[in-house]
Amino acid sequence: MSEQCYSGGCLCGAVRYEGSGPAANLCYCHCNSCRRAAGAPLVAWCTFTRSAWRVTRGTLTEYRSSPQVLRGFCAACGGALTYRHDARADEMDVTLASLDEPAALAPQMHVWVGDKLPWLAITDGLPQFIAGT
Ligand SMILES: [Zn+2]
Ligand SMILES: [Zn+2]
Repeated sequence: MSEQCYSGGCLCGAVRYEGSGPAANLCYCHCNSCRRAAGAPLVAWCTFTRSAWRVTRGTLTEYRSSPQVLRGFCAACGGALTYRHDARADEMDVTLASLDEPAALAPQMHVWVGDKLPWLAITDGLPQFIAGT
């Protein structure tokens, strides 16, 4: 089996990245922090092995959104790109929708539904978790 390669980037194109599969932990996150960071009711994520993911153009700007969390984005257009947690030092979470072919990877679950906005109805039948997994 050949390793799947994924590319993606921000809205303006200043920051580009590549990741080698597998892309794991496909999920929708409804947490308050993701919502604020993205300005969106939820954010879809996938996870790459840290060493299998790299920036190929530009600079990823990071903001410490929690004591152990760094969120990466493009400083020019604000596009939300990454999330990394000190407790998972070997992983890099990447916004699924910033991939060049986001339709290829479908989220498999909803996490942090305890923070879900009341006007957002989940009707896809996927597993739901009140907090993280
Ligand atoms: Zn950009
Ligand atoms: Zn979140």
